[in-house]
Amino acid sequence: MYNSPLHIDAEGYYGRFGGAYIPEILHRNVEALRQAFEKYSEDADFNAEMDRLLRDYVGRPSPLYRADRLSDYYGTNIYLKREDLNHTGAHKINNAIGSALLAKRMGKTSIIAETGAGQHGVATATVCALLGMDCTVYMGATDVARQQPNVERMKMLGAKVVAVESGNKTLKDATNEAIRHWCCHPDSFYIIGSTVGPHPYPEMVAKFQSVISREMRGQLKEHTGREEPDAVIACVGGGSNAAGAFYHFIDSPGVRLIAAEAAGHGVESGETAATIHCGTEGIIHGARTLVMQTEDGQIVEPYSISAGLDYPGIGPLHAHLAATGREKVVAVSDSQALDAALRLTRMEGIIPALESAHALAVLDMMHFSPEEIVVVNLSGRGDKDLHTYLNAYK
Ligand SMILES: *Cc1c(COP(=O)(O)O)cnc(C)c1O
Repeated sequence: MYNSPLHIDAEGYYGRFGGAYIPEILHRNVEALRQAFEKYSEDADFNAEMDRLLRDYVGRPSPLYRADRLSDYYGTNIYLKREDLNHTGAHKINNAIGSALLAKRMGKTSIIAETGAGQHGVATATVCALLGMDCTVYMGATDVARQQPNVERMKMLGAKVVAVESGNKTLKDATNEAIRHWCCHPDSFYIIGSTVGPHPYPEMVAKFQSVISREMRGQLKEHTGREEPDAVIACVGGGSNAAGAFYHFIDSPGVRLIAAEAAGHGVESGETAATIHCGTEGIIHGARTLVMQTEDGQIVEPYSISAGLDYPGIGPLHAHLAATGREKVVAVSDSQALDAALRLTRMEGIIPALESAHALAVLDMMHFSPEEIVVVNLSGRGDKDLHTYLNAYK
């Protein structure tokens, strides 16, 4: 196994979270994936191909930008990691490229994916067009209706979009359906959009996103003379952009890791997606983790203004980092995120994704001193959220 700083054990557990709770029919698939990931993740040719695409196609390294006006306003040193400038507008393309390249090495030609807001669907459809692979994206019917531009993008890119009519018709249901399809078509390769799902997915997606903190170290050294900041802040839906932003700092106790989860209308309101605050231990989509559920194990529908954060589970890595106190978790409400988004827009001329705005809002909720260096992972751009913003601010 390659040398991961995430402290995972051989069965895919981070502490007591993780593992692979899957139907018998998928065992061979998941085992083949585990072996392929182990083989290629440290393979020089594989990594050279990935690095070339990240550089020439995605546009990496993404800049680390010192936000001067924001820094003055908050009285500290704020740097933004600009994942919003990646091709397709967010960090998700990093994982889509790594996963699709792995699929190709395994001889797979057909890709399936789930999507909520459509960002992961677009990233996957993009990479499938790039590599000439067949692509089917499962999306809840409610999301298909409210995320039309991303649905149209996926279609333009040649993907088949399947509207899922079960349950609440959102991300959880799309994921269930993708897993169901995978069970019937074990020859296809399932690209999961976050650090969730059965082992090895959480580890694999974190590895593919770890380029974010790898770049940060070098860029911080250039800007500030030191490789390690005092704090890194990232939003968590399933936890992939945060995993990427934290990865190379996990074993650096001087770096505070701060995760912003979506409180929706508030953690006590019943309309929330703050899984780490409100969840209890259970199994969702193949992993033991924290889940928003009733006492008898029914999933409680999550709510957040941000479609990319309303997931009723959390990646097992984050459940573990939170349980051990390595990661501090802050619950950010819709209105706090909206305020932070407008502040960044008006002070820096950057319209953030609503998801990323949850990370920015932490600056209003925690104090940092004038000497401290704080990096906020700007996971994506806000074009897709303009409609929501304009409705909220009027
Ligand atoms: C999907 C998405 C997220 C949430 O997913 P994670 O796996 O938690 O990173 C955050 N930001 C943006 C811009 C997204 O598209």
